[in-house]
Amino acid sequence: MRTYVQTVLGPVPAGELGRCLSHQHVLFGYPGWEGAVLAPFRWEDALEQAESVLNHAKERHGLQTVIDATPADCGRKVDFLKAVSKRTGVNIVASSGYYYEGEGAPAYFKFRMAYGNAAEEIYQMMYREVTEGVGDTGIRTGVLKVATSAGQITDYEDLFLRAAARVSAETGTRILTHTQAGTMGSEQARRLITYGARPEHIMIGHLDNCTDMDELLKIFEQGVYGGFDRMGIQGFTGALPESRRLAEIVGLAGSGYADKIILSHDSVIRMLGDPWIYSEQDAKDLSRWNWTHVFEDILPQLQKMGLRPDQAEAMVTANPQRFFGA
Ligand SMILES: [Zn+2]
Repeated sequence: MRTYVQTVLGPVPAGELGRCLSHQHVLFGYPGWEGAVLAPFRWEDALEQAESVLNHAKERHGLQTVIDATPADCGRKVDFLKAVSKRTGVNIVASSGYYYEGEGAPAYFKFRMAYGNAAEEIYQMMYREVTEGVGDTGIRTGVLKVATSAGQITDYEDLFLRAAARVSAETGTRILTHTQAGTMGSEQARRLITYGARPEHIMIGHLDNCTDMDELLKIFEQGVYGGFDRMGIQGFTGALPESRRLAEIVGLAGSGYADKIILSHDSVIRMLGDPWIYSEQDAKDLSRWNWTHVFEDILPQLQKMGLRPDQAEAMVTANPQRFFGA
C-alpha cells in the first residue's frame, strides 16, 4: 500500500518527498506579535521573501519538501503556506497543535480545562484539521506538533500529547515534538507510546540541545525517530556548539541509529513582528542559521567524521521518507 503525506496542496506519496527539511518555519510569531504595529504582516512582501529562500534551497541543493512545524498559536497561516508552495513547487506540510505552555498561548484551553472539556476539544481540533482542514480553508495539516516545558510536562501540555497520540493512532498522522532545553524527550516518547501512538510515527525534536547521551539513548531505544533539527543555531536560546551535536550524531549512528536520525534547521523565513535587534555575538552565532547549512556544511562534515555518504544523505532523504511511511 502506498502511503501519502498530506501537504498544503494535497497528498504526496511518502516515497516522493525527496530531500526534506523536517522542522522549519516559513513564518513564526510569538503569541502577541500582532501588537507590533511598526511591522505589520504584508502578504506579498513575505511571499516574495519566502519564494527567494525556498527557490535558492531548491535550485542549489534539491530541497523538495518542508515540514512547517509552526504551532497554531505561533502565527501559523496555512493559506500563506499554500501560496508559497504553489509559487515554488516545494511541498509544504503544515502542523496541528499548540506550543509549550511558557511561550505559547495557553489561556484559552486552560480556561476550558476549568470550564469545559479541554481534552475532548483539543482532540476534535486536531482530528478536524487533519481530516477536513483548518477553519474554513479546506487546507489539511499533515503532522501533529506537541511541545513540553524544560524539565517538566505540564498538565496542559499532557492534554496535547494525549490528543495527538489518539489522532495519530486513528489516522496514522505522524507526530513531531518540541523539547525545551534538551529535556523530557524520553518521557515524551514514553507517554505518546503509552497513549497509543506507534513509536515509528513519532519524531522527538530538538535533540541538539541535549548533551546527555544516556537520555539520547533512552529516546532512540524506544524505536522513535530523533530530530537534530536546529542546525545553524548556536548560543541563541541555549543552543549548544555544533561540535557537540555532530559528535552525538556520529556516536548514535555508530550505535545503530543512523536510520532514525533526521536533520533540519528550525530556521524561520519571516519572524512576525518588529525586526530583531541583536548583538555582534548573536549575529556571529546565527550566521549559518539558514535553509541550506545542513546540505552545505553538515552532511560533508558528518562524512569527514566517519559516516558513509549514503548514511549522511539518508538523514535528509530516506529517513524522513521512511518516517512518513515510504
Ligand atoms: Zn521549531
